[in-house]
Amino acid sequence: MKLTALGTSGGFAGKNDGCSSYLLTAGAKNYLIDLGPGSLSELQNHIGYRELDAVFISHLHADHVSDIYTFRFALFAAQKEGSMPPSLPLYMPGQPEETFTFIRSNIEEQFNITVLTPDSRLELDGMVVQFLCTQHSLPAHAMRFEHRGKVFVYTADTSLFDGLVSFCANADLLLAEATLQDKDRDLESMGHMTAATAGKLARRANAERLLLTHFWPEYDRSISLSEAREFFPGQIDLAERGLVFHI
Ligand SMILES: [Zn+2]
Ligand SMILES: [Zn+2]
Repeated sequence: MKLTALGTSGGFAGKNDGCSSYLLTAGAKNYLIDLGPGSLSELQNHIGYRELDAVFISHLHADHVSDIYTFRFALFAAQKEGSMPPSLPLYMPGQPEETFTFIRSNIEEQFNITVLTPDSRLELDGMVVQFLCTQHSLPAHAMRFEHRGKVFVYTADTSLFDGLVSFCANADLLLAEATLQDKDRDLESMGHMTAATAGKLARRANAERLLLTHFWPEYDRSISLSEAREFFPGQIDLAERGLVFHI
């Protein structure tokens, strides 16, 4: 598998960096994970959107989903001219219901929507995808992708809890949100992690490699890196728009 970071800011887009979005390539298939602001623009530096096979949305906060409102226009045109299948598979949570209903009403003609449940398990072209409800301010799903013996886990937005540790077990690459730094660890109760907590998660889960993301845009990321290093002895990288990680 191969992961390309398309946007790594949490909350709002930072300078030259959009919000959460990742391109996961597994074999010949391309999957888009989250669609924060700026993601569709960065995607086209790597592949054309017509090459996407499915889209996964972790939760319905705007920093993870907002580009879907404009992506639908690209799909509308491509599907009308016959250069894409009539609907693109989309996996997303159905809560909060009012938000889901609004999004669905905008996009349902372009996407084939599957609502995720806590025990959702998918098999897509030799890849197994599992989901875990996280601890966040609204329903969110961590995602575990297994393909040809390799494991990639994305925490989505969450605080640390025991179930997350087992869900991330033995990941070859653990993409963990690290919105916060030590100075604001009190805010973890809002459903986010400090970089140090992401490091603890990686160590407890016995991850091979940790990739930090979802940074508060105005924070110095080198501080996040050093705070995570105190707790995880393995390789740690900072996600950055455009960077590619092989799994
Ligand atoms: Zn977020
Ligand atoms: Zn969120």
